[in-house]
Amino acid sequence: MSEIDAIRNAILEDAPAEAIGALALPEAARGAIVKSDEQEMFTGLASDDKDPHRSVHVEEFPLPELAPDEAFVAVMASAINFNTVWSSIFEPLPTFGFLKRLGKESVWGARHDRPFHVLGSDAAGVVLRVGSAVRNWKPGDKVTVQCNHVDDQDPSAHDDSMLATNQRIWGFETNYGGLAEIAVVKANQLMPKAAHLTWEEAACNGLCNSTSYRMIVSRNGSGMAQGQSVLVWGASGGIGAYACQYVLNGGGTPVGVVSSPKRAALLHEMGVEHVIDRKEEGYRFWSDETTQDQKEWLRLGKKIREHIGRDVDIVFEHPGRSTMGASVFVAKRGGLIITCAATSGFMIEYDNRYLWMNLKTLKGCHFANYREAWEANRLVCEGRIHPTLSKVYSLDHTADAAHAVQHNLSEGKLGVLCLSPEEGLGVTDPALRERHIDQITLFRRFEDSSR
Ligand code: NDP
Repeated sequence: MSEIDAIRNAILEDAPAEAIGALALPEAARGAIVKSDEQEMFTGLASDDKDPHRSVHVEEFPLPELAPDEAFVAVMASAINFNTVWSSIFEPLPTFGFLKRLGKESVWGARHDRPFHVLGSDAAGVVLRVGSAVRNWKPGDKVTVQCNHVDDQDPSAHDDSMLATNQRIWGFETNYGGLAEIAVVKANQLMPKAAHLTWEEAACNGLCNSTSYRMIVSRNGSGMAQGQSVLVWGASGGIGAYACQYVLNGGGTPVGVVSSPKRAALLHEMGVEHVIDRKEEGYRFWSDETTQDQKEWLRLGKKIREHIGRDVDIVFEHPGRSTMGASVFVAKRGGLIITCAATSGFMIEYDNRYLWMNLKTLKGCHFANYREAWEANRLVCEGRIHPTLSKVYSLDHTADAAHAVQHNLSEGKLGVLCLSPEEGLGVTDPALRERHIDQITLFRRFEDSSR
């Protein structure tokens, strides 16, 4: 039996911690990688025509030596994030530049600078080995991984580690990410796995849930107060669906924007009363490539007022170029536009008069520090925030999943089975699961019913 099969079997049999710690490690594992000698393959193509099927390969890669502050994690399941798409289409830049820079920082950093990049910024699985400096985790621990990768010996990494000069997103700006049979993580990326969730449900929350927690709940984000209203773009998407949950949990009013009746129905089912179907409304914020149409911003603002009787306190912004003009316009006087992305383009244009004359704030936000990710995960573990998993793929079909996210064909999160041979495994608290089964399976049921 191969070492990988022995690891998988031990986890499936729930072997004791000592037995997991005694398992032999393979020299190589399979993972979803892109290759440095292919980073020019899409030159000249439009973004939509850059196909992850051509660039993402599922192959064996050599496992590196473990640093003292790291752990090897046997990955039972992972998930697709939009950064998987960015890596696979080499936009806005090939990720090999990130690996090269990390490679120059230290001997341990040098392990990341390879001609392959193992992708993936989410994982749920079991700790196989820990480095000599790891205190809080041991082999056999069932974990999820948050993707904030920081060197905690750097003073800038303290207070808010997202402000660290060496802060990186694991599996995007580092190598050995979660879309693999075995991942390499820093010990301070580990968090307990939610006992009531399957491997794939537990794997899909880390990146998007933590990001939305910081944007909506944390004082580092908007710190939303009870009774505030939030316009959430892409409200049934990766980060948007967690944002809606946080707004509802915090006593706020989400106004969700989506692009189909199916997505509107999904949001209603989640408890989001106010939903705007941007396709049905036919908003054309840009009348051509260079001109925005203020009348269309006004039309959106009017629609929001029809729904909630006032302007929104906060705009949860990430589409970027296509929506930022409207987002700045529709936020209330003194309101906040919080942004973490620019899917449709990062060269942003908005009318600054509406920002300064109406005393609005435009604030950047990025992933989450360990404390924020931990709190967001605790809420998942307690059944207060639910996974938004809609579909699951095998590791071999990672490119199919990335392609679906790239083309806005999916709702919520797409999971990827790595070592787990099938869906539905890994639940150790069936009673808590039963209590929340409708919410846990909501996105999945919607996906299945629309096939
Ligand atoms: P998803 O694709 O899952 O969801 C995004 C949603 O945004 C889509 O479902 C779509 O919803 C909506 N959308 C897409 N394009 C437009 C547009 N032009 N105008 C209006 N709405 C649009 O992606 P994620 O939610 O996972 O990620 C969104 C962005 O956030 C990505 O760019 C990602 O890289 C970034 N991100 C950044 C993080 C950070 O830490 N900085 C963390 C996580 C994500 P609909 O069509 O229904 O309106």
